[in-house]
Amino acid sequence: MNPTTFKSTRTDTRSFRFSEALLQGLSEDGGLFIPEAIPDLPVGWRDQTAFNELGLLVLRNWLGNELPEADLASLVTDALNFPVPVVRLQDSAYLGEQTAVLELTHGPTLSFKDFGARTMARLMAYFLSKQGRKLTILVATSGDTGSAVADGFSGLDGIEVVLLYPKGQVSPVQEMQLVVSRPGVRSFAVEGTFDDCQRMVKEAFMDPVLAHLPLSSANSINIGRLLPQSLYYIWAYLQMDCPVINFCVPSGNLGNLTGGLFACEGGLPVNQFVVAHNANNFFPTYLETHQANYKPSVRTVSNAMDVGVPSNFERLQSLFTPQGLNDRLWATSVSDEETTATMQRVYQETGYVACPHTAVGLEAVHRYRRETGDHTPIVVLSTAHPAKFPEVVGSALQVEPPKAEALELLKSRTFTHYTLSKTLEALREVLLKKPHDT
Ligand SMILES: *Cc1c(COP(=O)(O)O)cnc(C)c1O
Repeated sequence: MNPTTFKSTRTDTRSFRFSEALLQGLSEDGGLFIPEAIPDLPVGWRDQTAFNELGLLVLRNWLGNELPEADLASLVTDALNFPVPVVRLQDSAYLGEQTAVLELTHGPTLSFKDFGARTMARLMAYFLSKQGRKLTILVATSGDTGSAVADGFSGLDGIEVVLLYPKGQVSPVQEMQLVVSRPGVRSFAVEGTFDDCQRMVKEAFMDPVLAHLPLSSANSINIGRLLPQSLYYIWAYLQMDCPVINFCVPSGNLGNLTGGLFACEGGLPVNQFVVAHNANNFFPTYLETHQANYKPSVRTVSNAMDVGVPSNFERLQSLFTPQGLNDRLWATSVSDEETTATMQRVYQETGYVACPHTAVGLEAVHRYRRETGDHTPIVVLSTAHPAKFPEVVGSALQVEPPKAEALELLKSRTFTHYTLSKTLEALREVLLKKPHDT
């Protein structure tokens, strides 16, 4: 089987194997890796009854002979070792009928990012050890990426992780998940915004002073995270057992959505993707006006989606025409007031406790159905567990969120705090030091 090859969003003079794109993260020209052609879903995908077997079949279809099937099988089984339930909500006045929530929240760090991070970490460790190489992973996180990546990579040989997150802009639980001491992982609270963190990462990759370091990224800009993020769309479709469905994706950097579009281009029968953003409305505005108005991020209660300029926008622009995006996507922007009101209304009408990110999605479903009259069954991706946001859930619903065992276990571990100013110079110093010097 021929593996899919990849190219940069900026120049397509060279094609890259998956392992090259994965270990390199960004292309030399500053572009992101995209598939040269999106493969059709593999024969037999409709017959799959276990998530990890579906995962193996679909990833094998992308990766072909880049690694032996037995190696991929054990890697996928190890990475995707948690349940992926589709929860059907009661019919309600607010959401209508046939609304389901795909809970991507049962991994070790309780967000959908565990899928991409755990799979990517194991693939990277696999290819690195084959090549006898080591790597430093540099990640900017708005909350959930960092802990998923740190957890995904901890304990894997040959890989060191440096995490940057915006100081004071992640929830206390998210911060605890970030700064828990893990072998080979250093987390820094940057005195700036998430966009500062992302800029510092980009600058480090282009920096001649750091050029000798084996650096890679693990943000949603890494193609290795996007392929596993297409799997659960296929899984949800199979669980829903209907001919065609819609998805609603609470979005920030648009990596989750890009995974869904891969599945759809491969032949998954999706009618529309409802793209739900918080007050950071770059993408809904783009779809309306076809103008990219870059602006800084603003803080919201759904803070993992606080992104001013979505990094995967460049991918979507390379893969689709503006009209192609409008044909597939319906986007909207939801305020904090509307988010907490939706948490309350959905809880009252259906008993479901949603995290603020998922609530942005639920509000978008309400609007989409009201404005378009399209009542195709819809699956809302639940991107984080409500237990990660006890303050917001508690004040909106006057109830304690359901407990998550992974969080309870964390409380007894040790923590290490570092802060960093928002400059390339400060980051250089960190990267040029060995971890045991700090
Ligand atoms: C990262 C994240 C998002 C946004 O996903 P993107 O792939 O960046 O669009 C939404 N919700 C939660 C909880 C997240 O952690």
